[in-house]
Amino acid sequence: MAQNYVPGEVIVKFKNQTSKTTMSSFNKRLSSKAKVRMKGAWTSMKMHHYKAAAGQSVDEMIAEMANDPSVEYVEPNYIVSKTEQVGVRGELLTELEFSSLASSTIDGSFSQTSAPIQADEAWDNLSDTSVRPIIAVIDTGVDYTHTAFTRWCAMWENTLEKNGSAGVDDDGNGYVDDIHGYDFYNNDGAPYDDDGHGTHVAGIALGATQDILASPEVAPSGGDCADGYESRVRIMAVKFLGADGNGTTSDAIKGIYYAINNGASVLNNSWGGGSYSRSLHDAIAYAYNRSIPVVAAAGNAASNNDVYPMFPANYDAPNVISVASTQSNDQISYFSNYGSSTVHMAAPGSAIYSTYPGNFYTYMSGTSMAAPFVSGVAAMILREQPSMNSFQLKEVITDASNNISSLSNYTISGKRLNANGAVLTSQGVSVASSQPSYSVNYSAFDRGPASAETSAGGCGMVSKLGKGGSNGKGFGSMVLLGLLLLPLVILFVLRQDTYRRQYERFEVQSNMKVKVGNKELVGAMESLSLGGAGIDVDELINSGSVVTMCIQKPDGSGEVEVKGKVVWSDGGKKYGIQFTEHKRRMLNSIRQLISQLVMG
Ligand code: CA
Repeated sequence: MAQNYVPGEVIVKFKNQTSKTTMSSFNKRLSSKAKVRMKGAWTSMKMHHYKAAAGQSVDEMIAEMANDPSVEYVEPNYIVSKTEQVGVRGELLTELEFSSLASSTIDGSFSQTSAPIQADEAWDNLSDTSVRPIIAVIDTGVDYTHTAFTRWCAMWENTLEKNGSAGVDDDGNGYVDDIHGYDFYNNDGAPYDDDGHGTHVAGIALGATQDILASPEVAPSGGDCADGYESRVRIMAVKFLGADGNGTTSDAIKGIYYAINNGASVLNNSWGGGSYSRSLHDAIAYAYNRSIPVVAAAGNAASNNDVYPMFPANYDAPNVISVASTQSNDQISYFSNYGSSTVHMAAPGSAIYSTYPGNFYTYMSGTSMAAPFVSGVAAMILREQPSMNSFQLKEVITDASNNISSLSNYTISGKRLNANGAVLTSQGVSVASSQPSYSVNYSAFDRGPASAETSAGGCGMVSKLGKGGSNGKGFGSMVLLGLLLLPLVILFVLRQDTYRRQYERFEVQSNMKVKVGNKELVGAMESLSLGGAGIDVDELINSGSVVTMCIQKPDGSGEVEVKGKVVWSDGGKKYGIQFTEHKRRMLNSIRQLISQLVMG
């Protein structure tokens, strides 16, 4: 992605005590001085969305606004994307073709995945209730005319809008004609899916709660969902991703607020990006304070979210459930992101059958497909226990899942979703009356403008033998890794033609030694940047290991010491050491070192 934010747009959060008058004069001042206009506002959050006049950069806007005493923060409007594994959509099948395929391949009983998540068993154990929790599919939209949804009246309906007048905001929620949800991408009341992704996700969320293909055999024809034939959960279509699968943080936030304020019980987020956004973090906290679970796809870069965060999956709010993808044999999908400190659990996401716009069915793969299985099961838990808070729900859903030994290095819980376990557990627990309080700590993620760009590439950094360098905070295995660099032999220096990489990276070639515990590994340092160093070693070392590193200066005048951690890039098949501290002095030293490289 050439640029990961919308040119000329920023999101501003005002301090809590800021008055309307102050915000309004802020708008006026910007508009007259810099021709910046307000595009939107979330008044309850004191957040404004601005667009600059042509030619003004985001950096200029941030500089213009950040020092205003009423501004808490100002940040770019980041771009995020659907988390579908690209290029693996199956052929489109009609319901009949699909039914026969499914029944012939999966022992005659249909399932959207052959992974043993025990959905059928869960359905048998559900209570008889009229509670129908709402899953907001925050995505590319939903084909709400698909018979898999209409047959069961599975789409959420805003009845005042349905029975109201076209072109009128009948329920006064600020959105015109929002019958099944809203389209924040095109700003209209028809969140139809022009991509296919959101419809597929919605079919999985619904399909986790009932057999969406068995319905023709038992439900009345003609979409007559009379008593007894209504779906167990409802789908709210919240479109903010375009046909290309991309959208903006500002639209995501609008979608999240819309979903919550219009009754959603679960938010499914099969999308994400590498940029930390304080405003999106605030929106997730808003969901937590209303006890709404936020299920998020871990991402498809086959990378480690502990090191290269994916948002919203990585927000540390207790209602976020970050989901990795497994194959039907419970092994992690080759594309799935993982993270022993940040990804909570796994669910099936490889070759999942589901709905596709135009009354078709197909298969798709991705953590996008894994997340809605969890959302569907979360909705079934809320069907059993409508007042269960999101904190407890997350505990129930992870506790009740299946231990899979191969997942222990990839997820916090080491578990794969089990629908039946979740339903039975929810029936057996007493519902907690409150959940722990949570307040957003921006600094835990936000390292300033430099953190604006991250990538799944592998670059990391260098280092030294340790002065007791491991501080051990929050990482699984605390191996102190000391790195002894032999004198750097610079054979080749190249100023890479980067495309808005976080830091310019320089290729170097040097021998080095890495000490892991008592073990000494010999390898090479291949690249160096302000963010880290790429290293090449033959042996396996633990990703996430905290290290103190020393880089010997090329001129032999001393060493630069820096803290970092070991990262692994599956994409590049490389280890790297990523700096975890960004102290001015350290950065200056590295800068100096790099300048020597350039001159060399
Ligand atoms: Ca409305």
